[in-house]
Amino acid sequence: MDNKTPVLLDGKALSAKVRAELSAEAKKNAEKYGRPPCLVVILVGEDPASQIYVRNKEKACEDIGYQSRMIVLPTETSEDELLALIDELNADKGVDGILVQSPLPKQIDAHKVAVRIAPEKDVDAFHPANVGLIALGRNDGFKPCTPAGVIRLLKEYNIPIAGKDCVVVGRSNIVGKPMALLLISEGATVTVCNSKTKDLGKKTSEADILVVAVGKAGLITADMVKEGAVVVDVGMNRSEGKLCGDVAFDEVAPKCSYITPVPGGVGPMTIAMLMENALKSQELNQRD
Ligand code: NAP
Repeated sequence: MDNKTPVLLDGKALSAKVRAELSAEAKKNAEKYGRPPCLVVILVGEDPASQIYVRNKEKACEDIGYQSRMIVLPTETSEDELLALIDELNADKGVDGILVQSPLPKQIDAHKVAVRIAPEKDVDAFHPANVGLIALGRNDGFKPCTPAGVIRLLKEYNIPIAGKDCVVVGRSNIVGKPMALLLISEGATVTVCNSKTKDLGKKTSEADILVVAVGKAGLITADMVKEGAVVVDVGMNRSEGKLCGDVAFDEVAPKCSYITPVPGGVGPMTIAMLMENALKSQELNQRD
C-alpha cells in the first residue's frame, strides 16, 4: 500500500449503514412487541454541548423509528430526585433504554446514578454489571458506545486486530479503559497510556493500531506514529469554532495505512452504537 494515501475510516457512512439496518430491525420489533424500542434521555441542567448531544440522540431515534423521551431537569435537581426518576423509569415497561447525559451538576454523584440504572436498561454500559461483562469478554451485556464504535469501524474495513500491538492513549472509564478491554477480547496486545506515561511517543510509535482518547488537539504528531499504522482519533476539541481531534491529521495521515477523520470518524459511530444498544435493551426487557 502507498502510505502517502491512507484510507479514511468513514464513520459517517458506516453509521448510516448501521442505522438503516436498525431501522429495519425496529420495524420487526414493533410487530413482535407492539412498539419499537423506547429510549429515555435525561438531561440535568443547561450545558450547551449536552443540549446538542441530547438533541442528536433524539433525532437519531426519530430517523430510525424508535420512540424517544427527553426529560430535561433544572440544574438544581437533587440527587434524590434524579434517583427517584430513575427508579420510576426502571419499573416502566414502556421504557427500554435509559441514558443520563453527562456531565452532571456537582450535587449529583455520577457513580450513584450509574449503579441505579437497571443493568438491562443501561444503554451507556456504565453500570458495574455491564463493565464486568465487558471485562469477562462476554457479549450478553451492553458495550460502551464509543469503544464499540471503534471496533465496528476496524472490522468494517477488515483491519485485523488479533495479534496486533495496540496502544490506547487515555484511561477514562468512558473511553480508554473499556477500549482496552474490547481490544484485549479481540486478541490484541494492549498498552494503555495516561498523563503520567513516560515517553509517550516511544509507546505510540510501537502501535500497529493507535487509539487516542485524550481531549488535547495536536497531541499526536507524525514522529509519534509508525509507518503504516492504523490511527483512530476519538478526541473532540473545538478550536476557533472548528471541531478537531487529538491527532495532528495533516502531518500524521501520510504515515498511516488507515486513519479516522474528525469530524466524520468515531463521533457518528458512537450514536450508531447507542442506537444498537437501545434495540438490544428492548430485547432484554421484553424477553420474559
Ligand atoms: P477524560 O475523562 O478527560 O480522559 C482523558 C484521558 O487522557 C485521561 O486518562 C488522561 O490521563 C489522559 N491524558 C491527558 N493528557 C494526556 C497526555 N498528555 N498524554 C497521555 N494521556 C493524557 O476524557 P474522555 O471522556 O475519555 O474523552 C477523551 C476525548 O474523547 C475528549 O476529547 C472527548 O471529547 C472525546 N470523546 C469523543 C467521543 C466521540 O464520540 N467521538 C466520545 C467520548 C469522548 P489521566 O487519567 O492520567 O488524567
